[in-house]
Amino acid sequence: MTLRLQMLGTGGAFAKRYYNNNALLYADGFTLLIDCGITAPLALHHMGKPMEAIDAVLITHIHGDHVGGLEEYAFRMKYGHGRKPVLYVPELLAEPLWENTLKGGLGQDGIDSLEDAFHVHLLREGQISELARGLSLEIIRTPHIPGKNSYSLYLNGEIFYSADMIFQPELLTELVRQRGCRKILHEVQLTGPGQVHTTLEELLSLPADLREKISLMHYGDEMESFIGRTKEMAFLHQHEIYDL
Ligand SMILES: [Zn+2]
Ligand SMILES: [Zn+2]
Repeated sequence: MTLRLQMLGTGGAFAKRYYNNNALLYADGFTLLIDCGITAPLALHHMGKPMEAIDAVLITHIHGDHVGGLEEYAFRMKYGHGRKPVLYVPELLAEPLWENTLKGGLGQDGIDSLEDAFHVHLLREGQISELARGLSLEIIRTPHIPGKNSYSLYLNGEIFYSADMIFQPELLTELVRQRGCRKILHEVQLTGPGQVHTTLEELLSLPADLREKISLMHYGDEMESFIGRTKEMAFLHQHEIYDL
């Protein structure tokens, strides 16, 4: 079964030419939204995708460009369609997602917890979860902001989807050389020091057999001026559909 990928957006946190780096993953009649950032509702609208076509949402970490659209999503599903959306969330993120991000907006009579707003499925490190037929998932904690948990995804034991992350060459090497990874969808920061992200310069330092598996996402508005400067690594484009 081939997974298909359609990015709602491919932009970094402050990009304005691209929507937030959120993805639709299509697996045999099942549609998973990976992250639901501030611009996700608008991106779906412009793509002509109704929110109710999404079967579940998964979040990788708590930043506005990854969770800022959840309030609208939950409210529209509740009041427009009378149902709670399915939410896959790493277990260590469930409490901060509610207490620090969603409670202020979603909290009201009858919605006193994350479980009141969503059908919550907790994800645990080291466990493989079957989300649907043809779609399994393992979360891998990867460093992003000190003191904040963030999780990259390993899909079907062969596709790595990076959350926002600091460069992890050992992990990428292990995935490709020892765990059968054949495709890497990786965030990239094109200019400036990485600090909490992975820079293009760092990705270019990887060996060619790793680079050729990498597609780039979560980039800044200057992306077009970098076309041709990324060796084997191609930029993903928002709204295009890719076979993975
Ligand atoms: Zn981000
Ligand atoms: Zn982030």
